[in-house]
Amino acid sequence: MDRSANAAGVLEHSDTGAQENRVVTEEEWLQKWEMRNIGFHKEQGHPLLQKYLDVLLGGRSGLRIFFPLCGKAVDMKRLADMGHHVVGVEVSEQALKEFFAEHSLPYSEEPVPEIPGAKKLQSTSGNISLYCCSIYDLSSSVVGKFDGFWDRGALVAVNPCDRQRYASLMITLMEQNSSYLLVTVSYDPTKHKGPPFYVPESEINSLFGSHCEIKYLEKVDDFSERHRQWGLDYFLEVLYLLKLVS
Ligand code: SAH
Repeated sequence: MDRSANAAGVLEHSDTGAQENRVVTEEEWLQKWEMRNIGFHKEQGHPLLQKYLDVLLGGRSGLRIFFPLCGKAVDMKRLADMGHHVVGVEVSEQALKEFFAEHSLPYSEEPVPEIPGAKKLQSTSGNISLYCCSIYDLSSSVVGKFDGFWDRGALVAVNPCDRQRYASLMITLMEQNSSYLLVTVSYDPTKHKGPPFYVPESEINSLFGSHCEIKYLEKVDDFSERHRQWGLDYFLEVLYLLKLVS
């Protein structure tokens, strides 16, 4: 028996062996964007972010909000429209250009002196700054720290071998009083190789637990035809709130 229920009340799979060594290269991500293989994109924004906006913002205004591995998430525009400063990072320049084009937002491009080859695409209004580079090129000395994080399609898109590095980086970007909303996915990892990768709750605890309090908030059924074609019979999104404790 390799399964038991976790705090989120979903089946916990221990048989993640098929995914552990899987590596998706940056080139493969760029190809997904070119081939329009972007079923992860939510045209209407993410319902869980909408629902837990108050948890993220805590009634505060003018926050710095980070979208790691941002794609062209429409919620970036929504938060910027509310007066927050949004920073994203994404390897696909195409994704970032589509974001600005689809929202009719004028923007400018500039190199990032600290990161060779990277570009920063910034809305003319100044409150959306999207870095075109790998997440691993960033550090708090380049982007500063953040009050809020929306991690959806991010930790679960990171190659399993890079998770520790990713989580450690995120912790260095957290302001003392920040709120980090983390969305993971739950499905049978023996049936689909990922991405998105299945990240067991036990691993979230080991990645973030020594620096953060981790609170399970909600799980939602996100099963669709796409997942059925992958050979799955269920697919959940699971939301956690991380708060820095040390
Ligand atoms: N968070 C977005 C996109 C999810 S898909 C959403 O919810 O819609 C994951 C995205 O991460 C892809 O757009 C991919 O191009 C990007 N990506 C993959 N590896 C990356 C890396 N190392 N650094 C930055 N972006 C990366």
